[in-house]
Amino acid sequence: MTGARASDSTVEFVQIAPGGVRRLAPAHPGGISDVFVPARLRAQGRGAPNHTLEELADGLEVDREGFLQTIREFNAACQDRPYDPTLKDGKGTVGITPAKSNWALPMDSPPYVGFAVTCGITFTFGGLRVNTAAQVLDLDNHPIPGLYAAGELVGGLFYHNYPGGSGLVSGAVFGRIAGQQAAQYAEAPERGTSQRSLSGR
Ligand SMILES: Cc1cc2nc3c(=O)[nH]c(=O)nc-3n(C[C@H](O)[C@H](O)[C@H](O)COP(=O)(O)OP(=O)(O)OC[C@H]3O[C@@H](n4cnc5c(N)ncnc54)[C@H](O)[C@@H]3O)c2cc1C
Repeated sequence: MTGARASDSTVEFVQIAPGGVRRLAPAHPGGISDVFVPARLRAQGRGAPNHTLEELADGLEVDREGFLQTIREFNAACQDRPYDPTLKDGKGTVGITPAKSNWALPMDSPPYVGFAVTCGITFTFGGLRVNTAAQVLDLDNHPIPGLYAAGELVGGLFYHNYPGGSGLVSGAVFGRIAGQQAAQYAEAPERGTSQRSLSGR
């Protein structure tokens, strides 16, 4: 790793744009970023705890001087403005690229820990088309008898991004509906599921 910063890690709240934090790796594979880590995870960081940034650099697979220079520039770019983690406080950096838009606090308070991160696939956003009865629809938007879907393989719910937690909630909600519908279909398939479709299709 070069020790250069990877991206603006504070464009959006994590609960509004969970993917934002995970964009670090593809944005800059050799880069670093500053993110807040819950206390219970800090003990798992590399070489934790480190009392100086030099110690931290030595524990990372990173260009030592590049890393320390990045931290120095970042700290100097932080502005003396109020810090408020409950809103986008505009406490951004000035004069560095990429900028940090909000919550830019200088890294000057040990202990320091480092974590290796990589990219991941949360879900695909695309998938099978279903109606509100969780029935899978064919290319003409007609329910396919006896076929239901829920969870990750359902498409058309989210575009561009998604609110935190909504992937699992979608799975729970459509999973319950799909289970009920499938059970009813199993009891009386001759009646056809389309008549019981919640969407009226
Ligand atoms: C890193 C990450 C973070 C996420 N964070 C969040 C979050 O914060 N909030 C949120 O709401 N959502 C989040 N999600 C998305 C959420 O986890 C998924 O949308 C959800 O788990 C999908 O549930 P599912 O039951 O449809 O699929 P899965 O959870 O993928 O379950 C499918 C199951 O089927 C099994 N399986 C596959 N093939 C077979 C087979 N042939 N035979 C038997 N079993 C099989 C698999 O082993 C698996 O257990 C995240 C996803 C990832 C990857």
